[in-house]
Amino acid sequence: MNRMGNGRELTDVVVVGGGPAGLSAALSLGRARRRVVVVDAGEPRNMTAPHMHGVLGHDGLSPLRLLELGRKEVAGYGVRLIHGEVTAARADGAVVEVETANETIRARRLLVATGLADDLPDIPGLREQWGRGVVVCPYCDGWEHRDDVIGVVATSPRSVDQAQLLRQWSDRVVYFANATGEPAADEMDALVRRGIRFESGPVTGLRVDDDRVTGVEVGGRVIAVGVVFTGPTPRPRDALLRSLGATTTEGPLGPWVDIDEDGRTSVPGVWAVGNVVNARANVSVSLGLGSLVAGAVNADLVADDIAGAHGRKSPSGARSQFRHHART
Ligand SMILES: Cc1cc2nc3c(=O)[nH]c(=O)nc-3n(C[C@H](O)[C@H](O)[C@H](O)COP(=O)(O)OP(=O)(O)OC[C@H]3O[C@@H](n4cnc5c(N)ncnc54)[C@H](O)[C@@H]3O)c2cc1C
Repeated sequence: MNRMGNGRELTDVVVVGGGPAGLSAALSLGRARRRVVVVDAGEPRNMTAPHMHGVLGHDGLSPLRLLELGRKEVAGYGVRLIHGEVTAARADGAVVEVETANETIRARRLLVATGLADDLPDIPGLREQWGRGVVVCPYCDGWEHRDDVIGVVATSPRSVDQAQLLRQWSDRVVYFANATGEPAADEMDALVRRGIRFESGPVTGLRVDDDRVTGVEVGGRVIAVGVVFTGPTPRPRDALLRSLGATTTEGPLGPWVDIDEDGRTSVPGVWAVGNVVNARANVSVSLGLGSLVAGAVNADLVADDIAGAHGRKSPSGARSQFRHHART
């Protein structure tokens, strides 16, 4: 059997994005003997972080190493991996097509796992330290900075919640309001009660010594810190899904593409998983959802195969009779 899926051949599933979500889905689909092609541009969200934490069995592993291991595993099941970017996608209800610089890939289903981009605050020196001296997730990096002086550079009034959360890891937390102004009186009171220091005024830069963040510049002073936490605005990399007409719902983070509990979008034959549709999916959640959605995609294909065996056309986009729960 030719499992390459290139040229005019119809592959079963094309996965766009080879981060934890996409590769986890590809692993399950490959093991289900599906013909799978993964196209990945190779820029996972956490690529600047030297270590990954909170992933059972892999705590402290480099995130790029995790993906390297994942690529090796999926290749062992015949999954074809393409390094490149998908620039366009089409779906007609029966077949999906995606374009890379070198080829058009045709498939029965499209799974988009393109992640999200973090829109960082525009502070000199901050971007260069992203993933190392400037981080976002207390559960990923809080332990490494326990009892340290933790600076929280606010990006919205809700950053007070991030400061209160980080107080769990250290009793030396400094809240830099930056452009967000003074918190509401009750929130300010709560900061004071838990010993969280408040610094008003715009943050003008970071102090970095020997490639380590050592301070935050505010009002002409440098406040010593050991690390900076901040809350970037998450921007889903959902251009392909939107170009296909996927519906979105407006939420506190702006419009996000709609999926059902199985990862199915509103576009027949098109599915999505991981950070592109779920800002809260860390590595473990992305791995888990990748596996869950792969089961649902496979069940949908099985429904097609059953319809084909009866000489019927499966109603594209209709819910599979053969739900993925059947595998458990
Ligand atoms: C600094 C930092 C540190 C983090 N540390 C941790 C941690 O310690 N533990 C933890 O659990 N989580 C951590 N996270 C969260 C983690 O990065 C995400 O949970 C995870 O990357 C989401 O996986 P994903 O597969 O959805 O997306 P990604 O990992 O971002 O993968 C998406 C992939 O799709 C590719 N892609 C995008 N568009 C296209 C296209 N058009 N064509 C082809 N390919 C495309 C991208 O290049 C990328 O390789 C961290 C995040 C950040 C920002």
